[in-house]
Amino acid sequence: MRILVVEDEHKLASVLKRGLEEHGYAVDVAYDGEDGLTLASMTPYDLIVLDIMLPKLDGLSLCNQLRAQSRHMPVLMLTARDTVDDRVTGLDSGADDYLTKPFAFREFVARVRALLRRDGRSARDPILRVADLQIDTVSHEVRRAGKLIELTSKEYAILEYFARNPNRVLTRTQIAEHVWDFDFVSMSNVIDVYIGYLRRKLGDDTEPRLLRTIRGTGYQLRMASE
Ligand code: CA
Repeated sequence: MRILVVEDEHKLASVLKRGLEEHGYAVDVAYDGEDGLTLASMTPYDLIVLDIMLPKLDGLSLCNQLRAQSRHMPVLMLTARDTVDDRVTGLDSGADDYLTKPFAFREFVARVRALLRRDGRSARDPILRVADLQIDTVSHEVRRAGKLIELTSKEYAILEYFARNPNRVLTRTQIAEHVWDFDFVSMSNVIDVYIGYLRRKLGDDTEPRLLRTIRGTGYQLRMASE
């Protein structure tokens, strides 16, 4: 899952980025509204964290313009002000949720998770189930046929992305766009290397594989393991 944080307070932006990365998300940061809009218009983010008071373009206008472009990724708005009018204006501009500064990081990350869940297929159940895999999107515990499997945060992020798109063929570009941030140096074989790690840990080394290679395209996580 890849998140864009648009926040002009550098210290807060870096705390949010680091904290979200510790939870396995890929995070890009923009420090003003114009940069935020540019990044959000060219990248398929899974969620945007958006401050309201921003230089160049404020968060409400940014959100309005995104919605006008038919970009429907969930938006969590942050603001220092807390009046009913501000909340109503924020929600009217297309934000999905609202958080008033200062906030506890625990609450922030819980709201991020809730918004990402709301967007997914399983609205309430935090467990994704594909074939004999069980993926807990809150604790990040992964089990195959009941057996706990230890994954690194990147391996987990790739597997979760597949599990949210079962049976869909995902290209290396799509995987990179949802799992890595802009600091990722694109090397054609990095995804393949991670798929190799995942297969080994999942015990998916022999045909028919759960995580199939689709030649010339990418990979696919199959709903059923025969
Ligand atoms: Ca601000």
